[in-house]
Amino acid sequence: MRTVITGGAGFIGSHLTEYLLNAGDSVTVLDNLSTGANENLKGSWDHPAFTFREGSILDRDVVREVIGASDRVFHLAAAVGVHLIVDHPLESLRTNIHGTEVVLDACLEAGVDLLLASTSEIYGKNTADRLSEDSDRILGSPLKSRWTYAAAKGIDEAFAHAYWREFGLNVSIVRLFNTVGPRQTGRYGMVVPNLVGQALRGEPLTVYGDGLQTRCFSYVGDVVPAMVRIAEEPATRGLAVNLGGLQEISILELAEKTIKLLGSSSVINFVPYEQAYGQGYEDMRRRVPDNSLAGRLVRFKPTTTVDTIILKVAKAMLSAAPGGVPAGATR
Ligand code: UDP
Repeated sequence: MRTVITGGAGFIGSHLTEYLLNAGDSVTVLDNLSTGANENLKGSWDHPAFTFREGSILDRDVVREVIGASDRVFHLAAAVGVHLIVDHPLESLRTNIHGTEVVLDACLEAGVDLLLASTSEIYGKNTADRLSEDSDRILGSPLKSRWTYAAAKGIDEAFAHAYWREFGLNVSIVRLFNTVGPRQTGRYGMVVPNLVGQALRGEPLTVYGDGLQTRCFSYVGDVVPAMVRIAEEPATRGLAVNLGGLQEISILELAEKTIKLLGSSSVINFVPYEQAYGQGYEDMRRRVPDNSLAGRLVRFKPTTTVDTIILKVAKAMLSAAPGGVPAGATR
């Protein structure tokens, strides 16, 4: 199988690349290296079935050329990370909406199947006990840049669904809930690499707001095989499928666990949201997935606990930077 992964130099994309190369695919990564890095692909670079193409999903010619020589596409390229979205709303909107349209057109033209990576952000402020795929979306004002990501990804899903309905394109969508693991960078504000890096450096752990907001972190090693099974399962065409983690945990508990598990001398520093993200920022208080559709369709059953995730992320950070773990988000 000739597989294209857009955004394959990113955190999740690089794990997917390794997984598919091991499964016998030939893999072409299309990435503009804006937030991804060649470093993430170190383990794949010398594989005979691996090709890297530097380029943007906004470049229609490159996208057509790469996708035209493939059998299937995993579309992961996107502007992600709350800091990046808040700081560069226009670029994020263009990449996330127009870029996806370019990819969809190229897949239709080439007649290849597509898996679109979407996000739990699209549910917005819905704090339901379990968010199922047809749960309502509760979004703040589109003038608040945090919501531009959710808005853009919602449009992407609608586009993908329309290409499936109107043109018969084989599209499946996954909604990823706070996927974490080795190689995720703290540079754009993601909490797990931020807190683990701070604990390893002996710095205060920055907990935003009161720390009682909760998330269900999912491990990249649980999520990637499920993404592939979803791409290969005809019953998922035209559907969006949640892929989330096991345990609901508050950010304060996450920080306390990180300090304890890593034997760190760090303290916890509560940072007001305005200081972390600027004026007018709105956070989600709670985000809990209902994974039952993925369970039924592709036997998705996440097994990696938050403790294991913290230890794996710390181990990977230490081995990647023997001279000292670099700083994460700079505010
Ligand atoms: N967060 C935090 N400290 C950090 C980075 C993030 O307390 O150094 C909080 C953030 O405000 C949010 C949660 O952790 O409530 C998860 O943030 P992340 O950016 O990882 O994901 P998302 O907000 O998209 O769920």
